[in-house]
Amino acid sequence: MEQDKIFERLMQLVIHYYHDRDQGKFVDYLDLEPLRQRLGLEDERGRGDWDALFTWVERYLAHAVRTDHPAYLNRMWAGANLPSVIGEVIVAVTNTSACTFETAPVSTLMEKYLLQTMLDLVGFKGGCGQMTTGSSNANMLAMMAARNDLQPEAKQRGLFGSSHLVAMVNADAHYSMDRAANILGLGTDHLLKVPVDDHGRMRIPALEGLLAETVASGGKPFFVVATAGTTVRGSYDLVEPLLKLRERYGFWLHVDGAWGGSVIFSDRLRRRFLPALAQADSFTLDFHKMMGTALMCNVLLFNRQPVFLREVCSAGDESYIFHQGEGDEVRDLGTLSLQCGRRVDSLKWFLDWKFYGQAGLAERVERYLELCQYAEDQVDRLPELEMVAPRESFNVCFRFRSPEGIPAAPFNQALRERLHRSGRALVGTGYVNGQLALRLLITNINVGKPEIDHFFQSVIETGRELLAERSGRP
Ligand SMILES: *Cc1c(COP(=O)(O)O)cnc(C)c1O
Repeated sequence: MEQDKIFERLMQLVIHYYHDRDQGKFVDYLDLEPLRQRLGLEDERGRGDWDALFTWVERYLAHAVRTDHPAYLNRMWAGANLPSVIGEVIVAVTNTSACTFETAPVSTLMEKYLLQTMLDLVGFKGGCGQMTTGSSNANMLAMMAARNDLQPEAKQRGLFGSSHLVAMVNADAHYSMDRAANILGLGTDHLLKVPVDDHGRMRIPALEGLLAETVASGGKPFFVVATAGTTVRGSYDLVEPLLKLRERYGFWLHVDGAWGGSVIFSDRLRRRFLPALAQADSFTLDFHKMMGTALMCNVLLFNRQPVFLREVCSAGDESYIFHQGEGDEVRDLGTLSLQCGRRVDSLKWFLDWKFYGQAGLAERVERYLELCQYAEDQVDRLPELEMVAPRESFNVCFRFRSPEGIPAAPFNQALRERLHRSGRALVGTGYVNGQLALRLLITNINVGKPEIDHFFQSVIETGRELLAERSGRP
């Protein structure tokens, strides 16, 4: 088959998928083993055969989870903005690595433009940053920067013989923090989890106590994280009191805004949720979550000059690849990164940014917050449902009220499974104060009030079904 025909055939499949993406069920669910059988992965056909190749593509699409579907309410991302999808296609076709100006000239300038735009928006004057593979990596890199800021010699000597370093995070912080503590040689025991208040925010007196105890026992508290939008509850740690403690203890203050950092696009929401952000030491935000850019798309910003980041990241002989030309301007973004090959993530962000603009993204977050308010109101109104904890921001943690004698957690877990397997809806779960909650997240521009109503109706119907089956039993 000639190339043009191949592309035409591909586009037909894409158009077909895209057309139906919000129709019918969000997934044609098969369990692991039946799906393995159905896919016929061992099938030998295919060598040099474009027809066979497209059969594989069709099989993939037949059981793909339609993340654009309004019943897909499970994760912090859903679907992807069309401008960014266009960016992804171009990136795939032009396959290159964004580590040097040589191989990725336009991407380098777009990424620099992105970084400057975001630094200006956040208010990190003279700062620097990079696009990373996501906030898990960004959190690790921020922790590493904090470690090397305090002990620059750690880069050569490691942590052997160093004072014992301690990091502190919200008890509900993302698990990537524990992984970072492992990777960086701190050990997860030295990642202290700060108990939370009724709003799911770190209790400042508790943090203060941990800081004092750590110092008294000869430890060094070097890294404190404010989570801007915790994973399950969506709580925002207060940044101002942490700034005061930073003056006293001299730690690095990182803000993990992977999820809730998107409020920075709206002046109103930023004043409400993240007023003191500009004074933090570093900040991470995932564009691929609330902002809808295609996965993965992240920015990590430092309130430090680029030379600092270069110091932190560089190691080994890079002379074969990086050729810093005349002048001070960083040309090769790979010099500020821990990766060698780097995916081009700048184009999809750039296209989204130009297409929607800050005003469009601000409207989007504001609308999501209104929809969350609407969803909470529905839970309060519908007798079958209840909130597990009051809503803090964008996360709606609720459950089906199970009757006396039926424990709520296994019942709601079973309800969730039934919703999923029947292809009716996919919603996440998480624990709030030890209680299992269904976690509704709205990050899909195709979701409005009618879709939310429909979702709650599905939950209620499914709950009733389960109850009817139970009472049918002897
Ligand atoms: C999603 C999330 C992360 C992890 O981000 P990835 O981009 O998925 O690696 C970290 N922290 C918080 C608060 C998150 O919501």
